[in-house]
Amino acid sequence: MQETIALVTGAAGGIGEAIVRLLAERGARVAAVDLDADRVEALAAALGAKGLEVTGFAADVRSSASVEALVERVERELGPVEYLVNAAGVLRLGEARALTDADWESTLAVNATGVFHVSRAVVNRMVDRGRGAIVTVASNAAGTARADMAAYAASKAAATAFTKCLGLEVAHHGIRCNVVAPGSTDTPMLHGMHSDGAAAAASVAGDPQHYRVGIPLRKVAVPQDIARSVAFLLSGEAGHITMHELTVDGGATLG
Ligand code: NAD
Repeated sequence: MQETIALVTGAAGGIGEAIVRLLAERGARVAAVDLDADRVEALAAALGAKGLEVTGFAADVRSSASVEALVERVERELGPVEYLVNAAGVLRLGEARALTDADWESTLAVNATGVFHVSRAVVNRMVDRGRGAIVTVASNAAGTARADMAAYAASKAAATAFTKCLGLEVAHHGIRCNVVAPGSTDTPMLHGMHSDGAAAAASVAGDPQHYRVGIPLRKVAVPQDIARSVAFLLSGEAGHITMHELTVDGGATLG
């Protein structure tokens, strides 16, 4: 991974931070991107103090103009992006029939359209260079019905389908596009679902009211579990893997 430039969105979040840290520890120079400028700057400073090469960038993945300016700036300041990780995301819980237009649109804007904006901006540059790897962090909710998750699941299914179609179209340019589909992972997003311990406990034990079977491995993931899977799919070790969806959920979707 020496001298590899990686761009990670959602970098100030639980999973994004773990991905930034792991890629940097493995020798990549990382553009850590988030809507939250203060948190991403603080992350870059903290990791920089440990000798890791991480630069913070503020951008809003909902805006194609913001994303185009971001990618242009990252390539000008750091160099050609070889790895892209789409990890920015939002979760709005609510029964499908009670969702507002704003709930639906704001979820799709980040989780689906955001993946489109960033992937398009980066992949066109990758095509010119004939190499690159993209991983989208979607969700096991994309393929498994659950109460209160209609907007989120729909957005993640869109991101998954987009990433796989993109992978087909750019495979002959030497670019691989894969999806990591986490289940419950110990981050601020999970804590936001219920009070702290309750979300993790409900995930592990199962919750018939929300059509959750529980987690056969009996624990929620830590962000590093997701980061290791992302790093694997980016790396040469996964050099013959593309358009794949790797579920990392302790068996929660039963296969
Ligand atoms: P998190 O809430 O800790 O982090 C999400 C990050 O995305 C935040 O730092 C936020 O500022 C950023 N973000 C939101 N909107 C943005 C925008 N418009 N532009 C740029 N950045 C934006 O969540 P997390 O748990 O670390 O989730 C990371 C990814 O993993 C998300 O895509 C999420 O849907 C997915 N995921 C999480 C879980 C889980 O249980 N935590 C499970 C499955 C999938």
